[in-house]
Amino acid sequence: MKPVATDSQNMRVADIKIELAAGEAGREMHQLIAELYPICRSITGDGLRDTLRRIGQQIPLKVYEVASGTPVFDWTVPQEWNIRDAYIKDASGKRVVDFKRSNLHVVNYSVPVQRTMSLEELKPHLFTLPDHPDWIPYRTSYYKESWGFCLSQRQLAELAAGEYEVSIDSSLQDGHLTYGECYLPGETSDEVLFSSHVCHPSLCNDNLSGVSLAVFLAKYLQSRPHRYSYRFLFAPATIGAITWLAKNERQTARIKHGLILTCVGDAGRMTYKKSRRGTAEVDRAVAHVLKHGGDHETLEFSPWGYDERQFCSPGFNLPVGCLMRTPNGRFPEYHTSADNLEFVRPEHLEDSYRKCLGVVDILENNRVYLNQNPKCEPRLGKRGLYGGLGSKAQVERHELALLWVLNFSDGEHDLLEIAEKSGLEFSTIRQAADALCQHQLLELRSN
Ligand SMILES: [Zn+2]
Repeated sequence: MKPVATDSQNMRVADIKIELAAGEAGREMHQLIAELYPICRSITGDGLRDTLRRIGQQIPLKVYEVASGTPVFDWTVPQEWNIRDAYIKDASGKRVVDFKRSNLHVVNYSVPVQRTMSLEELKPHLFTLPDHPDWIPYRTSYYKESWGFCLSQRQLAELAAGEYEVSIDSSLQDGHLTYGECYLPGETSDEVLFSSHVCHPSLCNDNLSGVSLAVFLAKYLQSRPHRYSYRFLFAPATIGAITWLAKNERQTARIKHGLILTCVGDAGRMTYKKSRRGTAEVDRAVAHVLKHGGDHETLEFSPWGYDERQFCSPGFNLPVGCLMRTPNGRFPEYHTSADNLEFVRPEHLEDSYRKCLGVVDILENNRVYLNQNPKCEPRLGKRGLYGGLGSKAQVERHELALLWVLNFSDGEHDLLEIAEKSGLEFSTIRQAADALCQHQLLELRSN
């Protein structure tokens, strides 16, 4: 493998801060969320396919279909669910609950129903959120055959005693589980994995935000040379990740770094949940970006949350963490109709996007170098390495970075460790390494 050039490449991932027009990506990410929002997705079915088809209009996407009944480790790919319409009609024929107004109104994976029943009979199948009387809850029943409707507490309060026509025009039958992959080959077959669950219907933060962020990261990386190969996985939560791992078990050794992207569009601070390993390079890279990027929280790994549960199960133990803003269950809008297009904002999506690119920048450029003049400090002044352009503080930081890089480039410390030791940002350390390489004072350690 040829080492990445150490001079300043025009197109390298590192220069993101300069080249991204402020706010543009955030607005475009929000537009994609708005386009995908109305689709009724689930862990299988045509809504999921339609979503992947639209993602495929943005980035190269290969779509896979895995048949119902396929064993995947301890699980089985379920039957495929599709829905065309659903409603509750009152005695006058008026739709008092209407799937066409919000796909959250039907419990996801409801079996077909066509009956007339009293309100009392119907009530055990109705779900509301009494604490938030205007919101519709999001409920699923993937692995237990059942049916139900979700509605606001106010809608429920308006239902008078009497007979109701209940219709769920759905199907649950053998079919397929669908997932999509965007693979962007790099200089090495070592991979960085980004995974976003794509199974929730009209909910924005969880997880159209993660899907949209992944799409825009893929778009960015597609247009630039990169050292790693990148794999973007768009699969239903849990069963999708399990299915992918079952079908790609032998390839998982290539995954050197990974992130689950979810809930990245709300106003909360950034949160990072570490991989099970806890000290993987991706854990250190995200910690560095967040430390230099404002208020944030870091969580230790726990076997609860998103698909890091599967990627970090002990038989895989992959270096995959989870990047979020406010974690699942910690915002009241979570799994309700209030997780809508107003709840996710372009500026927060933009901030999450930039932080992800910061992580990519570190992973791409975090290398181990060797000082070519290790006996006492080399004279930097005579090589024109002191001084330079920028504010006084920038010049001082750059000079300090040169000394840190020289001192710790002993073949044992990577640039990220040097950044951490010095308290300087990775980009400052990386620029110093570039400058020292140009003056033959530093060389990339061959692996
Ligand atoms: Zn969820």
